[in-house]
Amino acid sequence: MLSQIFISDLPSKQRQYFRTGTTKNIDYRIAQLQTLKQVVIEHESAIIEALKADLNKPEFEAYASEFSFVIKEINYAIKNIKNWVKAKKASIPFILLPASAQIIPEPLGVALIIGPWNYPFQLILTPLIGAIASGNCAVIKPSEFAPHTSHLITEIISKNFPQEYISVVEGDVEISKQLLQEKFDHIFFTGSTATGKIIMAAAAKNLTPVTLELGGKSPCIVDKEINLEVTARRIAWGKFYNAGQSCIAPDYILINKDIKEEFLKNIEKCIQEFYGDNPKNSPDYARIINQRQFSRAANLLQGDIRIGGEINADELYISPTVIDNVTWEDTIMQDEIFAPILSIVEYIDINEVIDKINLLPKPLALYIFSNNKKFQQKILSETSSGGVCINDVLKQWFTSTLAFGGVGDSGIGSYHGKASFDTFSHYKSVVNRKFFLDASILYAPYAGKLSLLKKLLRW
Ligand code: NAD
Repeated sequence: MLSQIFISDLPSKQRQYFRTGTTKNIDYRIAQLQTLKQVVIEHESAIIEALKADLNKPEFEAYASEFSFVIKEINYAIKNIKNWVKAKKASIPFILLPASAQIIPEPLGVALIIGPWNYPFQLILTPLIGAIASGNCAVIKPSEFAPHTSHLITEIISKNFPQEYISVVEGDVEISKQLLQEKFDHIFFTGSTATGKIIMAAAAKNLTPVTLELGGKSPCIVDKEINLEVTARRIAWGKFYNAGQSCIAPDYILINKDIKEEFLKNIEKCIQEFYGDNPKNSPDYARIINQRQFSRAANLLQGDIRIGGEINADELYISPTVIDNVTWEDTIMQDEIFAPILSIVEYIDINEVIDKINLLPKPLALYIFSNNKKFQQKILSETSSGGVCINDVLKQWFTSTLAFGGVGDSGIGSYHGKASFDTFSHYKSVVNRKFFLDASILYAPYAGKLSLLKKLLRW
């Protein structure tokens, strides 16, 4: 009950603060980003420990894809914000002269940010950076399934930012639903496609705009014209990073039949090199987040298991696994795998592959391994996906200069770098007219004026 009162008060408290204009001030925004950077740096070890406790995330992965990613995004925002906030001049038709026109970015107001458990720190903090840079207040709801990280985010935020500016609400689906009953000016959601639909339906009741960063099955097409060793190494790295629990992990491999056996040998070699004879003992291999996800993923271990397949429920461990001879009808091809299981579908004709991909929901990521420019171009132009990475995986996510987001079932909107600023801004178009030269042609009575109007509108 207490939390209910608290939650229903939050947006109005923040809106009051927003109306003071404090958060719109550019120096204030920069100072808040600097504070955020400072406290994240001070909590580096705590962040890494929390991620270890939640996911057994290796320190290297926690540093690269959570801690340093956030610092990089803050630095990028601080460096560019003065350019981003500038009003942009626009041209104006002759008939409206004398006048000037400009487009001014303004903050939306109070944002709600809801995050998932797989990169539980980064996927809350990165959108928050965008909300701050654009001058908004924010309520954030981390995932209940990464409790150590969720508590740490609460500690970091509540000790360093006033509640009326940024506040954290911890809790499960019920808390999330309570939050969704309130009116926000933007909802930024990262999570599954199924929940995304619920978020959008709730937002529609208040006409609240949404950014939906969702999931799905990301295909990885492997042609014959490749460096096989490097291809296998990059795919094995990207698939087993965070134990396969990445929204843009290569979900299934579509491989040219002629090179499949050689590719599988190389994947096996890479797994051995990365994690040793028994990946369970490797400090560099994460665990499945919880029993529910573990059981779901363990049920997918059927068919022609060529590599791995070992599980340990007590330790939430699934070894790096490769399942061969998968068909489109198999269970594993029906939903996002989100576990360290790579399914292999072989192809003979690339046109059939493209046709099939185009029948499925649009993926968040699509990967092409090929040295053949025509092959690359064909897939690029004949398929649609949130992003593409050619001859590697995940790398499209790591750069602040590229907007990151899905299309169709994999999401709505995007963020990272300038795109985060845009996401939490409204671009207000402003025309500023002068009082002199008030052309009478625009006013009724219109008799005899149309032919002149037609001429003037050509300019
Ligand atoms: P999820 O949709 O179950 O939960 C995400 C958040 O939504 C959590 O905070 C949860 O409390 C809340 N939530 C869940 N059900 C809700 C409901 N009915 N009403 C209101 N709130 C609800 O997702 P998850 O299991 O935490 O994350 C895994 C999914 O997220 C995968 O599909 C993955 O692909 C996707 N993902 C996408 C991205 C991306 O950037 N596109 C990044 C990471 C994860």
